[in-house]
Amino acid sequence: MNIQDELRRYFGYDTFRQGQEEIVKWILKGKDVLGIMPTGGGKSLCYQLPAVMMTGITIVISPLISLMKDQVDSLNEIGIPVTSLNSTLDQDSFIQRINEIKLNQYKIIFVAPERLNTKMFLDIIKGIEVSFIAIDEAHCISQWGHDFRPSYSEIPKFIKSLTSRPVVAAFTATATQEITLEIKKLIGLINPLEITTGFDRPNLFYRVVKVGNKNSYLINYLKENYQNDPGIIYCATRKTVESLVSKLQESGFSVRGYHGGMDAESRERTQEDFMYNRARLIVATNAFGMGIDKPDVRFVIHFNMPKNMEAYYQEAGRAGRDGEDSQCILMYSPSDVVKQKLIMESEYILPERLALQYKNLQYLIDFCHTNDCLRNKILTYFDEVVMEEYCGNCSNCLDQSEMVDITLEAQKVLSCIYRVKQRYGINIVIQVLRGSKSKKLTQQGLDLVSTYGIMKEYSEEAVREIIMTLVSRGYIHVTADQFPVLKLTAKCREVLQGDVKVMHKKALVEAKTMNSAKKKATGVKGPIEDYNEDLYHLLKELRGELSKEKKLPPFMIFHDKSLKEMAAVFPKTKESLLTIDGVGLKKFENYGNRFIQLIEDYCSKNKIT
Ligand code: ADP
Ligand code: ZN
Repeated sequence: MNIQDELRRYFGYDTFRQGQEEIVKWILKGKDVLGIMPTGGGKSLCYQLPAVMMTGITIVISPLISLMKDQVDSLNEIGIPVTSLNSTLDQDSFIQRINEIKLNQYKIIFVAPERLNTKMFLDIIKGIEVSFIAIDEAHCISQWGHDFRPSYSEIPKFIKSLTSRPVVAAFTATATQEITLEIKKLIGLINPLEITTGFDRPNLFYRVVKVGNKNSYLINYLKENYQNDPGIIYCATRKTVESLVSKLQESGFSVRGYHGGMDAESRERTQEDFMYNRARLIVATNAFGMGIDKPDVRFVIHFNMPKNMEAYYQEAGRAGRDGEDSQCILMYSPSDVVKQKLIMESEYILPERLALQYKNLQYLIDFCHTNDCLRNKILTYFDEVVMEEYCGNCSNCLDQSEMVDITLEAQKVLSCIYRVKQRYGINIVIQVLRGSKSKKLTQQGLDLVSTYGIMKEYSEEAVREIIMTLVSRGYIHVTADQFPVLKLTAKCREVLQGDVKVMHKKALVEAKTMNSAKKKATGVKGPIEDYNEDLYHLLKELRGELSKEKKLPPFMIFHDKSLKEMAAVFPKTKESLLTIDGVGLKKFENYGNRFIQLIEDYCSKNKIT
C-alpha cells in the first residue's frame, strides 16, 4: 500500500499539506508523534490515513460529541468504516455497536476520554488488536491551557492497561512551550517526532477597522461581501448578540444567535442550521466555536474585541479551514477595551494575575493600532520568525499609502482634551474638534472652547483614527469607566512641545480620501478564480438537494473548492472527475454520475465543448 494512492483513493487529494506526509510515515513506522498545527492545518488526516492503512483498529480520543459525529459522518462518506461510542446512544444501538466492533467491522472508534477506563470499554477492547491511539485536542490534558479537561488525565492509565502498547499520536493547535512539554510528559509519548507546522494561515486576510457606527459598517460589509456564504460574528456579551441578531434580521439577513445562556436544544438547532447552510450567519459569544469544524466559513468578524491575541487567533482561525480565501475583520473601539478590563477586574483578584491579563490585552490593542503587517504581528506573538516585512494580504500591507506627519493634528487633539478639562469621551471630543452644532455641545458651552471646530475639514473617521493612534502610543489614556473619558498622560508633553513627531498612514488620516478609502476597505475580495459562476451555482444547488436527501451538511458531500474546480474544468468522465480535489472513489460512486450528468447537460445547453 502506497500512501499517495490511499490519499487519492479515499480523500481525493493529490498532495499533502505541510507536515502531514512526515507524520503519517512516522506513525506507519510505529513511532509516536506530537503534531502541532493550526486550525485548518489538516490534523485529522494525519491520523485518519494511517488508521486505514494499519492492520488493527485505531482509537481516536476526542473531547466533543459534535466533533465525533461530524468525523464519523464524513469518514463513512468517503468509505472508511468508523463509529463512535458516546452517551447519546440508546441501549440497543450501543450493544449492536459493541458487537460490530468485536467483529472487527470498523477501522476507527471515536471515544470520549471519560469512557476509556470504564469496565465496559476495557472489556470491548480486550479481544481486539489496537494498533494506534490518536489524541485530538491534546492540550486539554494540560492545566495551563484554557480548555483543561480532567478526564484527559485518564488517558495514560488507559494506554498502560493495554497488553501491547500501540503507537500514540497527540494533536493540538495550541503551541505554548509549557503546554507542549506537559502534553509529552503527561501522555507519556515515547521519543515522539515533534512537528510544528507554523501558525501562518496564508488564505486568511486580516483587517482592523475603527468605525464610529459599527452596525452600518457591518451591514454594508454583509451586503457587499460573500453574499451567499457563511460567516461568524463574535460579540462580547449575550446582550449584544441578541440585539445584533434582531437588527440583522430586520435588515433581511439569514441569521441565528448563539450564546451560553441558551438551552442545549436551541444551541444544537442553531449549530445545525449553520452547518446545513440554512442560516448564513451566526452571531455568537465565545461560547460558539470548539466543535465547529465547518470548513467553508468565509469570514469571521469580531464586533467586539476579544481578551487577548490567543483568543483572537483561535476565533478568527475558524474562517477558511478549506484553504479558500477568507477574511478576518476586527472592529476596534476603545469602549471594548474598557469592557474587557472591567471583566478582567471582576475575574482576577490577584494583582500579578490581573497585570498579566492586562499585558495580554495590550498586545491585542497594539495589534489594532500598528501600521505594520498584521499577519507578522500575529506570528511574532507566537514566537515565529517572520521572513517578509509585508505579507500582501492584510489591510496594512494593502494600504500602500505613504506615512505622513500628523504632529499638528495630534497637537490639536491633545489641546482639545485639555480645553474640555479631560472630562469627556471620544465622541464629544471629536464633535468639538469638528465643530458640531449638536445641542449636547452648546448646552454645556463646549462650542465656546478655543479648540472648537479646529479640525472642521476632517472626517469623523479621520479624527477618530488620529485619537486612537494617540491612545495606542500612550499620549492619551482612556479611563476604565462605564463612560470612558479621555485623559492626557505625562508623555503627551513631548508632542505638545514639538520634541517628537507623530507619523501615520496617509490614507487613514487624510480628510478627503477618507470616504474612498472606506469604500475600498469594505469591498475587498479575494483573487478572482477562473471558473464558470453559472455552473458553480447549479452544482451548489445539486449539492443542496443531495444534502437534504442524505441528511448531511453540504460540505460533507463536496467542498466549495471541489465544485469550483468542476466549474473550471467541466469533467464529463469518471477519470476526469476523479482528478478533482476532494473527489475520492467512494464519493465518485455515490455522487459522480449526478454531477457528470449536470455538467454534460450544462455544456450541451450552452454549447460548450
Ligand atoms: P484541523 O483539524 O487541523 O483544524 P482539519 O483536519 O479539519 O483541520 O482539516 C481542515 C480542512 O482541510 C478539511 O476540510 C480537510 O478536508 C482539508 N484538508 C486536509 N488535508 C488536506 C490535503 N492534503 N489537501 C487538501 N485538503 C485537505
Ligand atoms: Zn500584511
